[in-house]
Amino acid sequence: MNAADLASWIRHAAELVTADADRLTRLDAAIGDGDHGHNMDRGFRAATEALSGGAPPEDVPPGKVLIAAGRAIVSKTGGASGPLYGTALRRAGKALGDTADVGAAALGDALRAALDGVQDLGKAVEGDKTMVDALAPAVAAYEAALADGAGLPGCVRAAAGAAAEGADATVPMQARKGRASYLGARSIGHMDPGAASSALILRALADVVAAEAAAGEG
Ligand code: ADP
Ligand code: MG
Repeated sequence: MNAADLASWIRHAAELVTADADRLTRLDAAIGDGDHGHNMDRGFRAATEALSGGAPPEDVPPGKVLIAAGRAIVSKTGGASGPLYGTALRRAGKALGDTADVGAAALGDALRAALDGVQDLGKAVEGDKTMVDALAPAVAAYEAALADGAGLPGCVRAAAGAAAEGADATVPMQARKGRASYLGARSIGHMDPGAASSALILRALADVVAAEAAAGEG
């Protein structure tokens, strides 16, 4: 993947987030303050705007795209999720460094760095009913697929599937981090909104990589 591919990921993530903003807001209304769809929509729109002006030039390192997107999200998004997603993308971009062609191993390292960034900042672990419950299984599934010899499409497909399952698995959890934790046992029975948005972002990555792979074959 080059800089243009990563910019496509961010743009497609913005599309999926915007299309699902009402659902994210409803999830957050159940166990939070009902602003997650709005926050995500605003943040990813800002990221898309930061990357606008056509495809990035060939010589831009792909990592710079993620750093710019993360910076835009931090500066434009309210709530807990803005700094968390912004940090995730900036850390992923830094992990890529000056790598010009992002292959499966490099992207795996970047996703791992993103997860580490979220956990360094938010201190959530798996089972706390947060975005970590989608991101951690996604990174683990990616790494397992990579170890099994899968290429980029297989790795991101595994990650997206695990993120969706991880989001579903937050339903019976009791929140121990973030606003939802104030509800105690009443947070049980609802999907965590941040886990739902993380699943969308990884779905966007899988979609973009699949489209790229299909274009390469065709
Ligand atoms: P806020 O909770 O400030 O209104 P949002 O509604 O945009 O912010 O985002 C809520 C989501 O943020 C939660 O569903 C959860 O996934 C995530 N979140 C909150 N706190 C943490 C944390 N400490 N670590 C990881 N994720 C968190
Ligand atoms: Mg909220």
